[in-house]
Amino acid sequence: MEIESSPRERFIRFLQTSQRILIFTGAGVSTGSGIPDFRGPQGVWTRRQPVYYDDFMRSEQARIEHWDYKLEGWQAFRQARPNGVHEAIVDLERAGKLLLLVTQNIDGLHARAGTSPERLVELHGTNLLVECQACHRRSDPEPHFEAFRQTRRPPRCYCGGFLKPATISFGQSLDSADLDQAGEAAAATDLVVALGSSLSVYPAASIPLLAARRGVPYVVINRGPTGHDDLLEVTLRMEGDVTELFPPMVRAVLAES
Ligand SMILES: [Zn+2]
Repeated sequence: MEIESSPRERFIRFLQTSQRILIFTGAGVSTGSGIPDFRGPQGVWTRRQPVYYDDFMRSEQARIEHWDYKLEGWQAFRQARPNGVHEAIVDLERAGKLLLLVTQNIDGLHARAGTSPERLVELHGTNLLVECQACHRRSDPEPHFEAFRQTRRPPRCYCGGFLKPATISFGQSLDSADLDQAGEAAAATDLVVALGSSLSVYPAASIPLLAARRGVPYVVINRGPTGHDDLLEVTLRMEGDVTELFPPMVRAVLAES
């Protein structure tokens, strides 16, 4: 009688045989680096009202509210360091197995860990840059936060445009070039892996599904239920903390090759 292989063995075999992996990451990857989950029970949205993009562009009061909220989180974001999941994904890229990494996270930790810019799509933007809403010049947030802390005046660009942390606000569209790049990867990948995401925020969560609907294996690793748990497209579902589960399995694969 053949013994059924464990989920761990199955995932390792998927990693071994795949050459163009599409990885999708969410908040569960960041919590291991001390970044709070905004949507969780202790999340910031239980205390604050989000500022919608149109309001930010229209109202100085809304800009003050948004910068005040971002200032509150800035210290934690600036001090956060990548963890074993971020590093394991860099290792997969160095081994030539990563096609594209698509993240919902805005902490910039995948970039800090060393994932190449051309293999990284930060769907919801990044807190590690500030962007002018007029000329789109990007710059280091630190001096702007310092100025806001002292003056309580929302910073402006040299061109006169409003500066905003380079994250996608409520009511703001995702970047179409980012969505195109993610869609192309979904069409070309041979394994799609969702890590630490509740897979409940769209259109982001549609990206792994696009790949899975082509029939490529789809592995979901998350602690707690996800929006894709009941879908037939999910080949393998591993329950637990991704920072404990994922890095040892990657190490097991790369140690052999
Ligand atoms: Zn500007």
